[in-house]
Amino acid sequence: MFVVSEVLMGRILELIEYKNKVMEKLRNVLTRDSIDKAIKDPHAKRRPRPCGITIHTGVGCSFICAYCYIYDMGFPAKISPYALTSLELVYSLAKNPYIVPYRTFAAYGSVTEPFLPETREKALEYIVDVYRWLYLPSQVSTKIAIDDEIAGRLKKAEPNLSVLVSITTIEKADKLEPLAPKPLERFRGIAIASKYGLYPYLFIRPIIPSVTDKELDNIIKLGAEYNAKGIVVGSLRITKSIIQRLRSKGVDTKPILDRAPRLPKDREQISIKINDIVLKVEKIAQDYGLKVFRTACKANVDSHNDYCSMCSFGPCGNDKKKYNIDYNDISEYLEYMNLKPLTIDIRSRYVNITLLDDNRNERKIDIARTILAYACRKEVFIKYT
Ligand code: SF4
Ligand code: SF4
Repeated sequence: MFVVSEVLMGRILELIEYKNKVMEKLRNVLTRDSIDKAIKDPHAKRRPRPCGITIHTGVGCSFICAYCYIYDMGFPAKISPYALTSLELVYSLAKNPYIVPYRTFAAYGSVTEPFLPETREKALEYIVDVYRWLYLPSQVSTKIAIDDEIAGRLKKAEPNLSVLVSITTIEKADKLEPLAPKPLERFRGIAIASKYGLYPYLFIRPIIPSVTDKELDNIIKLGAEYNAKGIVVGSLRITKSIIQRLRSKGVDTKPILDRAPRLPKDREQISIKINDIVLKVEKIAQDYGLKVFRTACKANVDSHNDYCSMCSFGPCGNDKKKYNIDYNDISEYLEYMNLKPLTIDIRSRYVNITLLDDNRNERKIDIARTILAYACRKEVFIKYT
C-alpha cells in the first residue's frame, strides 16, 4: 500500500484518489496498447451487480451443465482465457467509475468456471493482483475439486476469500453436469479449502425443484461433514432451452414451471420462486449449526468479517465494522462530482440526499449513488428538488 495524498482529504475522496494513484503507478508499467485495451474493456465500464463487480476469468465454459444460462447469453461451450493480463484487468477496474477500492465486492465465476485448466493460471493471477492493488473483498464460485495447490495459492492471494463450491445435485450429477468433477470430489475440496484457512461455503445454486429439494438432507449433511462454513442458496434461472435440456435429461419440469411467474420468451432468463425450499434448507442447516445466506454477497461479508447495509436484505455482517462516513465526506465527494447537495440526511442504514436541480445528469447520479453506497455500505437515495 502507498500513501494516498499529503493533502487532508475526506474518507470518500481518499478512496477515489487511491484508484487514481493505482492507475498512475500502472501507467509506468503497462504499454500504451495495454492501457488502451484496459480502458476499452467492459470491466472498465460495467456496473457492479448486487453480488459485486463480476470479473470474467475466461470466455465460455466446457462443462455444459444442463441448467446453465451462459449458452443462452451467447457464450461458447469451449473455454478460452480472458483477453486481459492481470495488470490490465486491475487498470480496467481502477478506471471503472463505479468501483470503490477496499469496498466493492468482486465476484469471480459468474459466467464461466474459473479453475478449468485453460483458465486456472489466469484466474489465480487475477485474484492475486486485484486484491494486491485494489483490496476488493472477493468471492469465487467453482465446481472444481479444490486441491492443495489451489487452496494454498488462494489463501496467499486473498486471505479471506469467500469460496462458493457449487452443488446442485449428487444423485443426478452424472446426467445434469456430466463433465464437471464428481460432487464428492467437490466436497473434499471444501475440506481442503477449510484446512488452508479459506472460507468455503456450500453453494446450493441453482436449486432445481424436483431434483435439489429431494436431496437437501444429504447435501447439507455432507457440507457439514466436510467443514463448509455455511450455505449460500440461489434460484434457478430458466430459459426456453434450459427447460428443454432439463426435460431431455429426464427431469420433471412441471414443478419448475409451476414456480415461474411466466414462460420465458426466446433467450430471456426468468428466476423461479424457491422461498419454501430455502426455508427447508434453513431448517435442516440449523441441525448442523450452519448459517444460510440467501445472497452470495452475504457470504462475502461473512468471510471478511465485514459489514453491509446496502440493500433491504441487510444489515449483514458485523455491526462493529460499520463504516464511519460523515456529512463532510459525502458533501466533499458530491462537490467533486460537480453535484450540488441541498440536504444530506445520514441514518444508520441509509442516506437520503437531495440535489439542486440545475445540472441534472442521470449517469453521474447513478455513479455517485453506487460509489456512496459502497463507500458507506448503506442504501443511498438521491432525488432532485
Ligand atoms: S460450471 Fe458453471 S458456468 Fe460452467 S456450465 Fe456449469 S453452471 Fe455453467
Ligand atoms: S446488505 Fe447484505 S444482501 Fe444487501 S448488498 Fe449488502 S451484503 Fe448483500
